[in-house]
Amino acid sequence: MDNLNHKLKTNILVVDDYLDNLTLLTIILNNLGYQVRQADSGKTALKAVEEKLPDLILLDIQMPEMDGYSCCQQLKANPKTKDIPIIFLSAFNNAVDKVKGFEVGGEDYITKPFLLEEVIARVEKQLILKQQRNQLKQELKYRKKIEKKLLESHQAIAQILEACPDGIAVLKFIPSRPNKPAYFYCTFINSVMESFLKANTNKSIHPQILKGSLDIFDSSLFEYFIKVVKTRHPFERDLYYETPEITAWYSVKAIPYGQGILIIVRDITERKQCELVLHETNSILYQQAITDNLTKISNRRAFDVYLKQEWKRAKREALSLALMMIDIDYFKRYNDHYGHEAGDRCLYTVAQTIRQAVKRPSDFVARYGGEEFAVILPNTEREGAETVADSIQKAIHDFKLPHAQSPISSCITLSIGISIQIPTSEDFTILIQTADHALYEAKHQGRDRIQVYGSD
Ligand code: GH3
Ligand code: MG
Ligand code: MG
Repeated sequence: MDNLNHKLKTNILVVDDYLDNLTLLTIILNNLGYQVRQADSGKTALKAVEEKLPDLILLDIQMPEMDGYSCCQQLKANPKTKDIPIIFLSAFNNAVDKVKGFEVGGEDYITKPFLLEEVIARVEKQLILKQQRNQLKQELKYRKKIEKKLLESHQAIAQILEACPDGIAVLKFIPSRPNKPAYFYCTFINSVMESFLKANTNKSIHPQILKGSLDIFDSSLFEYFIKVVKTRHPFERDLYYETPEITAWYSVKAIPYGQGILIIVRDITERKQCELVLHETNSILYQQAITDNLTKISNRRAFDVYLKQEWKRAKREALSLALMMIDIDYFKRYNDHYGHEAGDRCLYTVAQTIRQAVKRPSDFVARYGGEEFAVILPNTEREGAETVADSIQKAIHDFKLPHAQSPISSCITLSIGISIQIPTSEDFTILIQTADHALYEAKHQGRDRIQVYGSD
């Protein structure tokens, strides 16, 4: 049914000035199911073609006015009609005529008188060939469209990679062979990557990248890249690069890509410099945040953090923790007599003297507030704490800071309260309260002395 439908749609033009031939061919082709139109001269044939393009033309050679050859030439010269297959019909059966038929563009040749089977076979063959040609044309058109799209998308990708601020290169991996080490072959490089390499190496990139060419950046870079190819795992690292002319930081990424890798390089020098400055600023700010501005020792904030931490540690390890509260005796009178500025200098001297008298790295000295200082002595028992307190008092005595208004001495003296505990609860304020209490007791008993509570 499909075949019949197809044939019904197939339109054949038969051109012959001899009516009998026209009729005969029309009958044959109609019987096969083709639509047939007739023309009795070259001119009427051209007109008929113009009205409706036939799928095939059977064209007599010998006709008055315009013979088949020139009719064929005209049809083949016109882009609209040049693809219509033409089968010449002729009484001639010599080679010269046949050759001329092909020369003017005819596709085939049937000699009269017709053999029914031959006509059918040649017509069908030409129609099949035409159909195949059409299919081929369609396919070609489709392929060209795809190729164009592919080219466009390639160009778009290249443009994107070119516009990217990062250096990008595609490297194909070439494994080692006898007497030839493994290397990467660069199949794409954007201009950022090119100028980056030029700036760093003073050389244009050679498409063959051997281990040695990457060693200037990092002696392991080549191996890392090979690892990406073999494991298919991406690699990322910040590399520091330094020459007499250049100091730079680069972020290098290698991503598995086809038989090799895609490299993305970004100059992160500015970011790294900012990070460095930020880091320094942060540590300065941190130091400022935990330091007492006047005495340059740790402040109350730092004291709280350290005590909490050491209390927890001592509790966990069941160790003894000592806290010392130190207060300058009759300091109000000192201020009143020598002035506030002298008072400040005195506080600084006392703070520094206490700090120097404390020896262990884990011992911690802070200004607790006003003219009061605190010393945390981790893992220290009564005897040790008393020794430290003695050495603090001795250091202050030795310093002989004059205090004309002190009723108990001619120099600055300190009262010290010590609390020593092995923590049993979470609440560390108990240690402070006890040390405060001991300090109050030292004051009460006449000042310039040490009072110890706990671990007797
Ligand atoms: P006590 O022997 O009982 O400790 O007597 P005190 O006079 O030392 O104690 P009081 O608490 O009565 O006075 C503390 C003084 O410390 C009062 C204040 O003027 C002084 N002081 C606190 N902080 C500072 C400071 O930062 N600079 C100066 N110059 N003096 C301070
Ligand atoms: Mg006080
Ligand atoms: Mg005081």
